[in-house]
Amino acid sequence: MADDWKPKTKMIHAGSRRSQYGEVSEAIFLTQGFVYPDAEAAEARFIESGPDEFIYARYGNPTVRMFEDRFAALEGAEDAFATASGMAAVNGALMSLLKSGDHVVSARALFGSCLWIVENLLSKFGVEVTFVDGRDLDAWKAAIRPDTKLCFLESLSNPTLEVIDIKGVSKLAHAVGALVVVDNVFATPVFSRVLEDGADVLIYSTTKHIDGQGRCLGGVVLGTQDFIRKTLEPYLKHTGGALSPFNAWVMLKGLETLDLRCRAQAASALALAKALEGHRSVTRVLFPGLTSHPQHSLAMAQMSQGGTVLSFEVQGGKAEAFRVLNALDVILISNNLGDAKSIITHPATTTHQRLSADQRAALGISDGLLRLSVGLEDVVDLQEDLTSALDLLTA
Ligand SMILES: *Cc1c(COP(=O)(O)O)cnc(C)c1O
Repeated sequence: MADDWKPKTKMIHAGSRRSQYGEVSEAIFLTQGFVYPDAEAAEARFIESGPDEFIYARYGNPTVRMFEDRFAALEGAEDAFATASGMAAVNGALMSLLKSGDHVVSARALFGSCLWIVENLLSKFGVEVTFVDGRDLDAWKAAIRPDTKLCFLESLSNPTLEVIDIKGVSKLAHAVGALVVVDNVFATPVFSRVLEDGADVLIYSTTKHIDGQGRCLGGVVLGTQDFIRKTLEPYLKHTGGALSPFNAWVMLKGLETLDLRCRAQAASALALAKALEGHRSVTRVLFPGLTSHPQHSLAMAQMSQGGTVLSFEVQGGKAEAFRVLNALDVILISNNLGDAKSIITHPATTTHQRLSADQRAALGISDGLLRLSVGLEDVVDLQEDLTSALDLLTA
């Protein structure tokens, strides 16, 4: 039975729909609209569409639906809605759930655009937000009020890789009837079971590990059928954040190799984190898989592995960090992550440039900090690349 399949099998087969040709690989239905056999059929479909009946690609499309069904099966969610990007997913989930006068508690360490939505957009529509240090369950407890509607967090924060206790936050939120919305990009579907841990709504930017080869933007929101179909779908189908069928197809292919890729990338990330910890030009390595990480045991309980991204601080500041970046050969300077290619960025001058120096300091983003997304290259080459660049600082 498909429901009993293991995650790796679901990633390859769940949600498949075959046309009359019986194709092995999923078909790309690159169509905006759908033809009705007669006027009565068109009328009936607008009243209620069956599972294989579509109206318009902004509402749904067979290729997109395969991707949604496969993802829902994989995460054990009742339903899913795919979006044009990760940010369309975050915006759709928050804007469809919240209204003026609602109270939100959010972790402070957020991806730049998530912070913009929570800090600037929600307040514009009269939603009150309290920010907390996501690692501190007492801070969540103090901030959650009887009228709190929703708690928002990234399970593993960017770029300092702090771990948030999803079970702990869910328990506190559910005690007052608040929902828990988790952006789970860094932990990937391979290393976490966010819905089993108690979260209500799960969000991914599929641009990252799900595509995994740096080609397409995409996102997905997962949750109960009631939330997805009655709250989220009306918002997204009328505001236009739908995923393109072509991108959905790329993401379907990405899911087939996701487990293999993430496990290989995580194994290399752990090896590199250990090697960096021993280098004399490195003052700090942030990776949940290291026993030196302050939340190592929580990370292991929640994720079993440390993930595919690590951050490290070089001795000195911006000049030294830039010197290391510019000396790298294999590892590319770029701000994306989850790619087969290893990618490194200097958060203080790129992804977190918009923040003030004080805000960066509060988040632990120093001028010497570098974030490395570990790819699928031979780990020997990656280690050699990093070591020879870092050796320049002490030469
Ligand atoms: C990349 C990312 C997003 C946004 O995803 P896009 O597909 O770029 O819109 C949101 N949250 C996190 C944690 C991310 O890494």
